[in-house]
Amino acid sequence: MVLADLGRKLNAALSSLNRAPVVDEKVLDALLKEVCAALLESDVNVKLVASLRQKVKAKVKASFEGGADKGKETNRKTVVQKAIFDELVQLVDPGVEPYKPKKGQPNVIMAVGLQGNGKTTTCTKLAVYYQKRGFKSCIVCADTFRAGAFDQTRQSATKAKVAYFGSYTETDPVAIAAQGVAKFKKERFDVIIVDTSGRHKQESELFQEMVQIGEAVKPNMTVLVLDASIGQAAEAQAHAFKDSADFGAIIVTKMDGHAKGGGAISAVAVTKTPIIFLGVGEHLHDLDKFAPQPFISKLLGLGDVQGLMEHMQDIAIQNPDKQKEMAKKLEEGKLSIRDWREQIQNVMNMGPISKIASMIPGLPQDIMQGSDEEGALRMKRMIYITDSMTSRELDSDGAPFLEHGKDGKPVGLTWRVTRVARGSGTSVREVEELLCQYRMMANMAKQAGGKNGWLQAAQKIQ
Ligand code: GDP
Repeated sequence: MVLADLGRKLNAALSSLNRAPVVDEKVLDALLKEVCAALLESDVNVKLVASLRQKVKAKVKASFEGGADKGKETNRKTVVQKAIFDELVQLVDPGVEPYKPKKGQPNVIMAVGLQGNGKTTTCTKLAVYYQKRGFKSCIVCADTFRAGAFDQTRQSATKAKVAYFGSYTETDPVAIAAQGVAKFKKERFDVIIVDTSGRHKQESELFQEMVQIGEAVKPNMTVLVLDASIGQAAEAQAHAFKDSADFGAIIVTKMDGHAKGGGAISAVAVTKTPIIFLGVGEHLHDLDKFAPQPFISKLLGLGDVQGLMEHMQDIAIQNPDKQKEMAKKLEEGKLSIRDWREQIQNVMNMGPISKIASMIPGLPQDIMQGSDEEGALRMKRMIYITDSMTSRELDSDGAPFLEHGKDGKPVGLTWRVTRVARGSGTSVREVEELLCQYRMMANMAKQAGGKNGWLQAAQKIQ
């Protein structure tokens, strides 16, 4: 997961709030100190951090004075958690909606940015992303500045099975861009991505070229590609590009392994331009869609039901009937243990587990720790457990595993838990954990129907 360190620190701060017997100003100050220190370490601008601290304090004070806490510590904790969650979202939210490509029409996307920021790699990732979602996608390489740029596009586009256009002989990037876009428009491509030249630093020649290519291809969206490692300096770089050639969206690359990524994301939000994706690795699929609320939710370990649904829709393209049925169940909150097992199996088939697992609320956090192989092993054990269940148990909501008292309330676990543990070669504790995680997931799914329901559910679980 990106910014895993920041996520861990924020989580630790919020758990210390949960442990506090009373929530008073001293506890709030200590919590905010921890949260702010974590943000500063992630290179978030000191002024932004100070403003977050003030806003959270003001919100909490107003809520307490307004009686929202109703004198109960759990209510006070929820007020504080919600204030922090909302302000973290604000920190990365530019408040502007990005352009959304539409099918059945050409959508020209022009990528700009400094050399080495990951522009060419990102263009291929973008083409793959849209292609997977049923958009006929292609790349035009208008980078004539960097030797080998066209070769790089050709190789990665071929590997990704994406159409491409470029030239070894033409030296005018404007001419190549215009020719490529005209050709692909004629061939009815939906998403046409134009990769432009970069330079080592911001210089007038680069900006002029960007403007000329922009005038020639009239992009529906210009995307600035920024390297996360520059941290809060992203703001100055974004402004410099914006002054010369306006752009409508940003992709922050190299978020994997860069502790300063939080600084880059929050700095970009200040420029009122939406981040649409994060580059999270060198491979073709290492591109995460970005949206402020789900991003913070995942960072705090609360899962991302919306993101999960989108992923399921991607799979639906390959296996429409099965997955549509599952998405409907998830929306209606009617998930059985069998359905949940299918989700886990899908996650295992969907590629890097660490990435997708963080979207599933209820999955243990430690699945994301360690290597992907370790995560896969833990998931396999979960599958072994469900393999030892009977059909009736699998199709249930976990009720057969619970012993109920006379008043209908669960009082303990039934002999079935021991049988499943024995049959699957796991322990009773592991089976109990699995049932507990399933219940969390089922509860969250039930509440995910309404707008932001997942967030409320997540807050209840905390
Ligand atoms: P360009 O000059 O802006 O076109 O940059 P390239 O696309 O050639 O990328 C420069 C280097 O950054 C290459 O080694 C890429 O593999 C690497 N790169 C690009 N995006 C990412 C990313 O999200 N994560 C990581 N770790 N490396 C990346």
